[in-house]
Amino acid sequence: RVAPVFSRASAYGDNVAITDHSGSHTYSSLYKNSKSLAGLITEALSCRSGDLQGKRISFLCANDASYTVAQWASWMCGGIAVPLYRKHPPNELEYVISDSQSSLLVAGQPFTDTLEPLAQKLGLPCLQLPTSLDTLQLEEAQMLPEESISDWAERPAMLVYTSGTTGRPKGALHTHSSLQAMVQGLVSEWAWSRDDVILHTLPLHHVHGIVNKLMCPLWVGATCVMLPEFSAQKVWEQLIASKSPMVNVFMAVPTIYSKLIEYYDQHFTQPRVQDFIRAVCKERIRLMVSGSAALPQPVLERWAEITGHVLLERYGMTEIGMALSNPLKGPRVPGAVGVPLPGVEVRIIMTNTTSTVIAEGNRKGTQVKAGLEGKEGELLVRGSSVFQKYWNKPQETADTFTEDGWFKTGDTALYRDGVYWILGRTSVDIIKSGGYKISALDVERHLLAHPDITDVAVIGAPDAVWGQKVTAVVQLRKGMTMTLSQLKAWAREHMASYTIPAGLILVENMPRNQMGKVNKKDLLRQFFPAQSE
Ligand code: ATP
Ligand code: MG
Repeated sequence: RVAPVFSRASAYGDNVAITDHSGSHTYSSLYKNSKSLAGLITEALSCRSGDLQGKRISFLCANDASYTVAQWASWMCGGIAVPLYRKHPPNELEYVISDSQSSLLVAGQPFTDTLEPLAQKLGLPCLQLPTSLDTLQLEEAQMLPEESISDWAERPAMLVYTSGTTGRPKGALHTHSSLQAMVQGLVSEWAWSRDDVILHTLPLHHVHGIVNKLMCPLWVGATCVMLPEFSAQKVWEQLIASKSPMVNVFMAVPTIYSKLIEYYDQHFTQPRVQDFIRAVCKERIRLMVSGSAALPQPVLERWAEITGHVLLERYGMTEIGMALSNPLKGPRVPGAVGVPLPGVEVRIIMTNTTSTVIAEGNRKGTQVKAGLEGKEGELLVRGSSVFQKYWNKPQETADTFTEDGWFKTGDTALYRDGVYWILGRTSVDIIKSGGYKISALDVERHLLAHPDITDVAVIGAPDAVWGQKVTAVVQLRKGMTMTLSQLKAWAREHMASYTIPAGLILVENMPRNQMGKVNKKDLLRQFFPAQSE
């Protein structure tokens, strides 16, 4: 049976659902406050039936309990939740509000000043959440009819905007069924239970922060400890603190793990402290996950030294939720993303064909076409967690599905040694140079082994002779220098000759977004403006 996560709240009653800067919020208080906000939303939109029939409600909230209240309230009154991102500038917020054709805005504390001018400009009502959510008290007459909605399955639930790495963000529409499929897949695969306590530090406008780190724990009655934003110091404090609730699950993007390692190396230099951290992490934490971008092997290895945990890397997208995952128990293969999650089917097809299948698999196993073992191609996904459509983009929606209903991820992958490997985005990460197809992610993995390189993004610079030239955009360790010939000399010892960078660009800071992603189209535009037109 499909039903939103709030329908389970009564079963968890006085359990603590969320702790944040304002204290603890039980499941019952989240439910009650959401119900009140839902009443206010229906009243603001003058909809007495209590069913807004898929109207979009955009909300901007801090990383705290108000986010869940706004999300649940949007669902309770039959609306589609559209989470906005607090670090987006007004023009980006306006883009999402206008693109989603939202009917109403909800401003959590302290975002009234941000949303009010936009509400006025767009002629939309804007509700403000109080500092204390418990003051959202409603008169009996304003209450929504109990159980005003029962048919949840195919109802649209949420518009999640993609990261915009390859173009303008697109609104991916998920139904309550696809959200539930995502949650249930992860709950069973990663063995979520009511006893779990997760530390939440990620933005709340992507599947990683919304589903994996918030909806999963709330589905099982666990506790989510929300930090207002990422701070390496605060995360370390929470991971090793002995005050209740004690964290036992952590998930982040690779750049966050890098920042935690940097902080550790600067501040925890005494062996006694290091032993303590390792012992606490080993004993107390049961699961540490990385995703949203490729996990560099040096980060995986150093994290394992520091904490004793081999990070579980998984692969997912806004449009499909999580699709491939290393195992909770059993060996995790560095650089690979494991096998399909429950309910997910995957295919690798020859790039630029529609039906030449290289490999096809699901939870139970993968079959590879004879003669095509280890060959790379485009990754396709099918299953109940796949989104319904891009909002108001019928052409893009049609183009992204094959005739027989597979979603085309736009990523290149291969299947080898019993697991799947992501080689990168077909459009920017698969570099075609002198007849070779080179995975930018593979080259990055190799270059990260260089002791002076802290971060790298590999791009295919346009080249009249070779088509594209492997070009490394590199951030060096402080005080280090590097020339192209030095890099090449090192690379000749470590890499296949045709993958060795032919170009080197040094940057002070790698331009990674909040989700740890580099926009390679932007890098190409920045460094090769004439050719990138
Ligand atoms: P847009 O679709 O707007 O260009 P985006 O694809 O970055 O942006 P998301 O849906 O947030 O938006 O990101 C999904 C992408 O992230 C995947 O298609 C894949 O390229 C990348 N990704 C996610 N997890 C991994 C991983 N473990 N390894 C490598 N790449 C990953
Ligand atoms: Mg994408």
